[in-house]
This record gives sequence, structure tokens and C-alpha cells, in this order.
Amino acid sequence: MHISISSKCVGCGACSAINPEVFEINRNFAVVNSANICGNEESCIDAAIECPVNAINIYEN
Ligand code: SF4
Repeated sequence: MHISISSKCVGCGACSAINPEVFEINRNFAVVNSANICGNEESCIDAAIECPVNAINIYEN
């Protein structure tokens, strides 16, 4: 699984509240800690669903 954050991110913090292992807010923008995706896939998908501006893009590989 690969995750990217689009420029639509408004830094609301919803993703990091759901999945702090993978998502972190830095200067009002979400940053992905790719090393922690493995084992947290379900909550990555939850975060993508909850993102109010659909800024979280998930790619299966
Ligand atoms: S939930 Fe979406 S808009 Fe909010 S910080 Fe995360 S990526 Fe950005």
C-alpha cells in the first residue's frame, strides 16, 4: 500500500486522530510515515474515508 496526500489537504487533523502511527500534521499539512503503513492498513483506509476533502490517495501495489 502506498499513500499520498494531495494539495487539497487543509490540515484538519482527522487522519492523525484516527491513525497517528501513519499520519502526522506538519505546518497544517498531513505527512505520511510510510514505514508504519504495514499493519495499519485498515485505519489508513478509515482515515481516507474520513478526510473531509478527499486528500488521502491510497494505491495498492
Ligand atoms: S484528514 Fe485530510 S484534510 Fe485533514 S489533515 Fe488529513 S489529509 Fe489533511
